[in-house]
Amino acid sequence: MRIQINRIPQSGGLKIEESWDAKTLDLNVDRLRFKGAINIAAYAEKGYNNLTLSVNIIACIELSCSRCLENYILSVDKNLKFYYTIERNQIFLQPDSDIREEIILCLPVKPLCSSGCKGLCIGCGRNLNKEKCICNK
Ligand SMILES: [Zn+2]
Ligand SMILES: [Zn+2]
Repeated sequence: MRIQINRIPQSGGLKIEESWDAKTLDLNVDRLRFKGAINIAAYAEKGYNNLTLSVNIIACIELSCSRCLENYILSVDKNLKFYYTIERNQIFLQPDSDIREEIILCLPVKPLCSSGCKGLCIGCGRNLNKEKCICNK
């Protein structure tokens, strides 16, 4: 995302919408697969020597549950605000790395398909969300 600072009107702001490919962001790490594009809607407002950027991130990420190991989809819909200081002769602002960092922060350290996931039985290995344990049979 490349925000041309002189295109931001003095009153009101500039709206920028982009679709990002997870591949170009270098975000396709292990256990993490983006479903479709990452949609970024940004709104830039200019102050005297600063810029406020409101960003909405929408993405679908396929994760593996850390308890039952099933894949599930995490929908991310996050609103953020960034503040930047603008130099007198600055032409562009590229907030990509800040936005990328926030996307990474959306990812759970211990992904769970649901808060009540029963996980796998350590005895028989059955997925206790779907099947009954057969250990005592
Ligand atoms: Zn689970
Ligand atoms: Zn069992």
